[in-house]
Amino acid sequence: MYAELQMLIDGAWTQGTGRRREAVINPANEQILGELPVAERPDLEAALGAVARAQADWAATLPKERSRILRGAAEIMRQRADEIARHMTLEQGKPLGETKIETAVSADILDWYAEEGKRAYGRVIPTSMPTILNQMMVKEPVGPVAAFTPWNFPAVTPARKIGGALAAGCTLIIKPSEETPAGALAIARALEEAGLPKGVLNMVFGVPAEISEFLIASDIIKKVSFTGSVPVGKHLTRLAADGMKRVTMELGGHGPVIVFDDVDVDKAAAMSVAGKFRNAGQVCVSPTRFFVQERIYGDFVEAFTEKAKALKVGDGLEAGTEMGPLANARRLDAIDGLVRDAVGRGATLKTGGERIGNSGFFYAPTILADVPEDAKVMNDEPFGPVAPVVSFKTFDEAVHQANRLPFGLAGYAFTNSAETSARVGAALKTGLVGLNSFAISMPETPFGGVKESGYGSEGGIEGLDAYLSTKFVTQSGAV
Ligand code: NAD
Repeated sequence: MYAELQMLIDGAWTQGTGRRREAVINPANEQILGELPVAERPDLEAALGAVARAQADWAATLPKERSRILRGAAEIMRQRADEIARHMTLEQGKPLGETKIETAVSADILDWYAEEGKRAYGRVIPTSMPTILNQMMVKEPVGPVAAFTPWNFPAVTPARKIGGALAAGCTLIIKPSEETPAGALAIARALEEAGLPKGVLNMVFGVPAEISEFLIASDIIKKVSFTGSVPVGKHLTRLAADGMKRVTMELGGHGPVIVFDDVDVDKAAAMSVAGKFRNAGQVCVSPTRFFVQERIYGDFVEAFTEKAKALKVGDGLEAGTEMGPLANARRLDAIDGLVRDAVGRGATLKTGGERIGNSGFFYAPTILADVPEDAKVMNDEPFGPVAPVVSFKTFDEAVHQANRLPFGLAGYAFTNSAETSARVGAALKTGLVGLNSFAISMPETPFGGVKESGYGSEGGIEGLDAYLSTKFVTQSGAV
């Protein structure tokens, strides 16, 4: 059984007003899981009307009441965790162990925002003139939000946007990925059952460009939040600029990993395999360019290769599967193209480099050694199970390589020298830095990139602030 595919508009579950439907495919066997309704103009107008009507009451709802609803939804998600995880594995492909973690983290994100929403503090500013009685800064909800999320984390990414917006007192219309709707739908159902008033959260599906263009152009929408690729992020930012609307953009990256020669090679290789092949590498903060110091380079490549070869690839529902299929056929072609290009330019294929079987979008975990700088995989975000490895001699050379690209999302370094660790942490031009760790995303920590990887943060106190505007109020004596 798979999820019931509907849209949520103005408190009603609906198939929408049109006849168009979008098939949701299981990437492990290419079978159709269900038909998703496609929003037409009247559906989007209804959603806009709903957020406009609900905004004032939701903003005025006591933070502790908003908190109660978010916490209630988190609890419902936990009770349904097995079912939600199964639906996400069916639609997205990643192993059940990963979708169970994703469900738990999504519930934790709602809990985090449930608490943080009570702390949208302003401040009192001492006056500098005797005529001023009072100066204060207050935080207010920015207003109705349009949010767009991709297919690689069907629940966590919607949870971040929904949790932040609702906790701050914003209503929203979210368009999750048409390829993986179940995670977001589970969150919407849980919130509705926990008592979310009608119209506060609306969930639509359809043709992404049609929906984003229409919603962002509406005067009702005051903020745009998007997670996805750099080109689409730039496009939506341009659309938002026409109405001078606030944006949060969580875009792509090309995560450098610098491995210095003072580490335990086997341990670093084991962590790299776990980090690299999680969600088959379809993660914006995935480690994607490995720079390894020359003394341990050969040993690292061998250990990395052996451990990648040993991964069990299969249907994410099967026990023991460590890596599932890629999420869609586009990724299969893209990864194969990157591997061929690298080998054509002189890289050594250590393992993988081919599709597995001809049913389902399976691709073998792939390690490429001695990859030249001009290979596409060293420049374009790979978003798949391929790891290029290159050797370096000096600290400066490694940092230069790490910072060479226009991306700046996540960067990692492995070293047991406290000094090198501090220096490399400061030198990496990324919004997120993992030192001896690939775990750089928690509900309570800010998540976001610099350079072309985006603008703004989700998670942490910054994630709440993203949905609040700043108002300064000054008060003088009687007139
Ligand atoms: P894509 O660029 O077509 O789409 C990326 C996401 O943006 C999808 O969810 C899509 O529905 C949405 N989208 C596309 N056009 C849109 C529009 N005009 N308005 C609103 N939403 C729109 O590419 P894709 O084939 O789905 O994914 C490929 C690339 O996207 C990857 O290589 C990766 O760089 C990037 N990506 C990044 C993330 C992330 O977490 N940052 C997630 C998924 C994909």
